Amino acid sequence: MGVSGCGKTTIGKKLSKKLELPFYDADDFHPKSNVDKMKKGIPLHNEDRFPWLNILADSIKKWQDDKGAIVACSALKESYREILSSKNKDIVWIYLDGSQSLIQNRMERRQNHFMKAEMLTSQFNDLEVPNYGIHVAISQSPEEIINEIMLKLKFMDKSFFGVIGLGVMGKSLSLNIAEKGYSLSVYNRNTAGEENVVEDFLKIKEVGMKIKGFTALEEFVYSLERPRKILIMIKAGNAIDAVIEALIPLLSRGDIIIDGGNSHFTDTKRRAIYLENKGLSFVGVGVSGGEEGARKGPSIMPGGNKTSYSIIAPVLESIAAVDKGGTKCCTYIGPGGAGHFVKMIHNGIEYAEMQLLAEIYNLLSPTKTNEEIKEIFREWNSGELASYLLEITADIMTKKEDGEYVIDLILDKAGNKGTGSWSTKAAFDLGTVNTMMSSAVFARYVSAFKEKRKSLAKRINKADDVRDSLSVADIKNAYKFARIINHQQGFEVIRLASETYNWNISLSDLSRIWTNGCIIRSALMTDCISHFKTNSDLFELPEIVDYLNANEDAVKSVLIYGLKHRIPLPLFAEANTYWISITTERLSANIIQAQRDYFGAHTYQRIDASDDQYFHTNWY
Ligand code: NDP
Repeated sequence: MGVSGCGKTTIGKKLSKKLELPFYDADDFHPKSNVDKMKKGIPLHNEDRFPWLNILADSIKKWQDDKGAIVACSALKESYREILSSKNKDIVWIYLDGSQSLIQNRMERRQNHFMKAEMLTSQFNDLEVPNYGIHVAISQSPEEIINEIMLKLKFMDKSFFGVIGLGVMGKSLSLNIAEKGYSLSVYNRNTAGEENVVEDFLKIKEVGMKIKGFTALEEFVYSLERPRKILIMIKAGNAIDAVIEALIPLLSRGDIIIDGGNSHFTDTKRRAIYLENKGLSFVGVGVSGGEEGARKGPSIMPGGNKTSYSIIAPVLESIAAVDKGGTKCCTYIGPGGAGHFVKMIHNGIEYAEMQLLAEIYNLLSPTKTNEEIKEIFREWNSGELASYLLEITADIMTKKEDGEYVIDLILDKAGNKGTGSWSTKAAFDLGTVNTMMSSAVFARYVSAFKEKRKSLAKRINKADDVRDSLSVADIKNAYKFARIINHQQGFEVIRLASETYNWNISLSDLSRIWTNGCIIRSALMTDCISHFKTNSDLFELPEIVDYLNANEDAVKSVLIYGLKHRIPLPLFAEANTYWISITTERLSANIIQAQRDYFGAHTYQRIDASDDQYFHTNWY
């Protein structure tokens, strides 16, 4: 922008070449009546300019929705610039600054320009120099002007990456991203009573971190360089759709929205299709590691459009945890909702791992002190049973506040946020078994009926409370047994989903990114990397089957002890039932088939006929 004769067209064309963006001259959009007036030297009035500026505003929006453009336009007054940016605020204004005498001189040397040199005075009278944007002196050569513009554009201070939602995870991930040297814009909505979320966050940013905070979504979006890369870190569900809807009109073609929350994988698929139809990209990313992991290095499971992922991969990989081999715990999982699917099953496995430890605590606590239980857990954690969850549970056992063990004071009522029950439903939909996860979900539900449990507990006969001792070695072996079953079921759901939805997920790579940063990291998970390199199923490994076979008795001892002392052990029971069922050639489903055929003529197959033959009996 700038007065006529300042060199807008020359500079604009050179800039367009340099930036590989199309060039448009605003004068070409004047209606003929305006051109005629200008040729005759009649100054244009606002009523002449406004329709022209509105046409330009529409065009700018269109160009911006594509890849952007360079536009040469005098845009002398603030009100004109307001119209030009009315449909799209993301304009970088470049003001070509020259004195009237310099421009007068240049114009007098120019021919065939419809703008008479005499009109320059009126242009300068109209000119309201913007106090924003890039200002460049036109006394320099065009090459120098271009170089200065390029340099200033580079330092225009747009952020490379954006984060929406400064909750537990958003804050930690933001600090992690900024620490890796990426310039960052963050946004949090302003709600009553929580007006200072952004302000408070900016206070904790560390020296050298380039973070800008916003509470206006529009300003946040325009603070980002294109293609914009925006990580949404808010609670899953309708809130994500609402934020996406608010973002859409502010975004441009090619921008990438990343959902890092625990969204359901079918929502992710739906959102990806919806946004792709609008020229935007959507990447659904599973993130595990909790608050600390997010800050220091989470495990990251990205899924969706692979090309868009490659644009954000450097950021995600830079913040991810590192495995033992030095490789980042972040790998592209697959298209659509694949990333969120595996995160969901990750959480399902986590539910079962947690519940198993809770059951062991239940077995040990009547006869052992918290300190003794901690020691048992620590000893296990030094070997093949090592896991993050075992480690933290050992810590939990002896944590004291005001001289009392915190664990002894915590109400026995567990909450959940839904990913566990989604995992259960996913297995139902796929027609496979994940009794470990589902049982862990139900165990939490049962725990929630505290009042009912309390009142019923008063009405039943007391359990046998003579606590004979149960061998810790048996518990340990049963624990290993149940964990293998849990991992077998979890990976089997993923394998089947990958096959069903054509995701082509590598279970070995997935195990690898789950060996650090995430909640289910463990020595067993590390073993899974090699197990799944050559097998698609843990039961294909002779050493696993041999172990399970050899330790049936340990599980039996644990279960018998639980039955005798009325200790509910749903996961140990499920592990045992699944193992016994899956290794039993003839189950009782012949009865089920007969019943179905009896009341519903559903037919059945026979042991003495081929698989494709179906029979019906007249039962009555
Ligand atoms: P928090 O509850 O700590 O924070 C939620 C954030 O979402 C806040 O910034 C909140 O803003 C914002 N928010 C909530 N509702 C809306 C809405 N309707 N519109 C806009 N913003 C909204 O959650 P977390 O940081 O723990 O979790 C964020 C996501 O990450 C969730 O999907 C969660 O399941 C997932 N996750 C969480 C993990 C954890 O360990 N916590 C681990 C892995 C994933 P405001 O401050 O205004 O309320």
